[in-house]
Amino acid sequence: MIRLDGVGKTYADGTVAVRELDLDVARGEMVCLVGPSGCGKSTTLKMVNRLIEPTTGRILIDGKDVTDENPVTLRRGIGYVIQQVGLFPHQKIETNVMTVPLLYGESRKHARDRAHELMHLVGLDPATYAGRYPHQLSGGQRQRVGVARALAANPPVLLMDEPFGAVDPVIRGRLQEEFLRLQRELEKTVILVTHDIDEAVRMGDRVAVFAEGGRLAQYDVPAAVLGAP
Ligand code: ADP
Ligand code: ADP
Repeated sequence: MIRLDGVGKTYADGTVAVRELDLDVARGEMVCLVGPSGCGKSTTLKMVNRLIEPTTGRILIDGKDVTDENPVTLRRGIGYVIQQVGLFPHQKIETNVMTVPLLYGESRKHARDRAHELMHLVGLDPATYAGRYPHQLSGGQRQRVGVARALAANPPVLLMDEPFGAVDPVIRGRLQEEFLRLQRELEKTVILVTHDIDEAVRMGDRVAVFAEGGRLAQYDVPAAVLGAP
């Protein structure tokens, strides 16, 4: 479904963030990119939805080169969740979730129904939370809203950058499990970035271990990654 072929990124200041990266992600698979800070995980993710252009190599989604695609069209098929989910502070939670469907011309009624359905799905009762504002939610709850909003356009692909990084460890474990269930149920293809090896092996069907200098050190199933010296 997603394929990176010899992808490299050198930033304008000469920093080599990613080098010669080959990665394939099957449909419905969750792949975790893990490794120390600064080893090129976020850069890799951003290249998939063309927030950043690779310096070398090609990225294919469903066999199509992402550079041949209009970025706006491309991102319709890709949900993107980051650690600091940028919710609109002056909009209610349901409006935050509805933003994308409304942009695509869905009716308000339909978009609202869908927003409530998604809120249920991520464990936020709309009867309680639909009318609240982001500052009235805990960190864990805001992350859930971020996931609901990313799902609103029903994208086949989800890119997640430390989605559970900002929440405390107890909540994180719960969010991880819930998200895993959701991903299986909705059969999303997911690339998830984390610096937490436990999270990577718990959640990933396969784990891509990055090393300093943007090199892929290992790409395998969790058991094999854990078994490595
Ligand atoms: P990770 O997500 O693994 O922490 P990043 O992909 O964010 O790593 O960064 C990889 C490398 O690229 C780091 O050395 C980082 O400092 C550098 N980098 C990231 N963004 C930029 C940028 N816009 N300009 C220059 N260097 C950058
Ligand atoms: P979590 O377990 O998700 O981190 P918290 O312990 O932070 O949640 O919050 C517990 C409850 O308090 C939640 O139901 C949340 O909606 C509510 N809450 C947190 N912050 C606020 C706030 N600023 N105003 C109103 N309710 C809040």
